[in-house]
Amino acid sequence: MNTDILIVGCGVAGLYCALNFPENRNILIVTKNIARKSDSYLAQGGICVLRDEADYNAFFEDTMKAGHYENNPESVDIMIRSSQGVIEDMVSFGVRFEKNGEAFNYTKEGAHSAPRILFHEDETGKEITSHLLEAAKSRKNITLIENFTMVDLICDENECRGIIGHDEDGNYKAITANYTVLATGGIGGLFEHSTNYRHLTGDALALAIKYNVKIKHMDYIQIHPTTLYTKKDGREFLISESVRGEGAILLNSKGERFTDELKPRDVVSKAIFAQMEREGTEHVWLSLVPIPEEEIKSHFPNIYQHCLDEGYDVTKEPIPVVPSQHYFMGGIDVNGFSKTSMDRLYAVGETACNGVHGRNRLASNSLLESLVFAKRASSDINLNYNSLKDNTLPEVKPEKYENYREEYKELILSSIEKEKQSHE
Ligand SMILES: Cc1cc2nc3c(=O)[nH]c(=O)nc-3n(C[C@H](O)[C@H](O)[C@H](O)COP(=O)(O)OP(=O)(O)OC[C@H]3O[C@@H](n4cnc5c(N)ncnc54)[C@H](O)[C@@H]3O)c2cc1C
Repeated sequence: MNTDILIVGCGVAGLYCALNFPENRNILIVTKNIARKSDSYLAQGGICVLRDEADYNAFFEDTMKAGHYENNPESVDIMIRSSQGVIEDMVSFGVRFEKNGEAFNYTKEGAHSAPRILFHEDETGKEITSHLLEAAKSRKNITLIENFTMVDLICDENECRGIIGHDEDGNYKAITANYTVLATGGIGGLFEHSTNYRHLTGDALALAIKYNVKIKHMDYIQIHPTTLYTKKDGREFLISESVRGEGAILLNSKGERFTDELKPRDVVSKAIFAQMEREGTEHVWLSLVPIPEEEIKSHFPNIYQHCLDEGYDVTKEPIPVVPSQHYFMGGIDVNGFSKTSMDRLYAVGETACNGVHGRNRLASNSLLESLVFAKRASSDINLNYNSLKDNTLPEVKPEKYENYREEYKELILSSIEKEKQSHE
């Protein structure tokens, strides 16, 4: 099989990248699971936007401060300046953000000094991603293959010529492409407790390490302070930061507050871990009771229902919460147009690191960052477009990949460990 542009992953980054190519380019998107199973569908809180010029400096400063000033200021500027255009695009795809009459209704989350987050109930990610998916499916030039897992890159020295992968029955296939875009999301599947889908195991990162494509900030891993505490297996259920933005408070086992709930995520997580250690408990409590009942039911219907299903009525009682792995700030090192250090290879979304988030991501910046830099990848590819000199399909040897899951996990975890040690 060969194609003009191959995109690996169909979260917001992969889909929006595909939709920004002209219709005379053949785009093939492959995804490891069914299309709906991406973290993009899970985003609850919302998506940041520059409300008006008066908020530019505060938005910039909040992003930098949350990132401990290790962010790339140019990337932050690009993200903020491009935000209004991206939101206009989303609306043109049919995405519905909450409004007060004709005007957008903005919410606030931890570490934001002003309300600048657009949302759709507590399912903003689903609202955005489902519309992008629908649009991609309606384009004749875009083909989507589900349940196809990339396991290798096809490389000739420092040039990427496509990928090798397998379907759900274990049939291996090579796909060549003039340009390959990696949009494989985060690494939560490598951790015991994570809010991410279990199949998101950072496969693109493992391949970057294997082929010496530059990577960055491997140990910048965000822990979300508030996921619902449970003894059940599987993905942890997130209790969005915006509940704290709207007034929810954290309590210890005596029902006392012990921290400022609106500090950045890493600071709040640290305070919770310290509290758990002091009390010898496995969780702390989060009370949504200060939020008016109608506000809980209209703004957070999904959280309300999920907690009810788990036996907690959040309008009346606190819920047990614990921090979990949530987001990866590091990734494949890319420039301002999402280009990696390998020719014809791009990386977008959570799998890439353009430096927007620094050491710690500001809430609701990742959908925006994924969209902005996915669009920039397509424009760069379009601008420089030329065909591979040789797109011969290589011979695929499935026996090479017998233990790839364990090998790739080990590659990533040891790279994280190495980077951690270099900071000690
Ligand atoms: C519970 C939760 C709540 C969140 N809330 C917010 C929020 O309110 N606001 C915000 O801005 N951000 C939020 N985030 C973060 C945000 O959702 C993600 O960072 C963003 O959606 C990442 O998009 P993506 O396209 O890079 O990856 P994803 O949406 O995760 O998509 C990755 C894709 O890659 C595919 N894939 C992976 N490996 C392979 C492989 N080997 N071969 C083929 N395909 C592969 C997957 O199947 C999937 O299609 C939240 C995240 C979670 C988990």
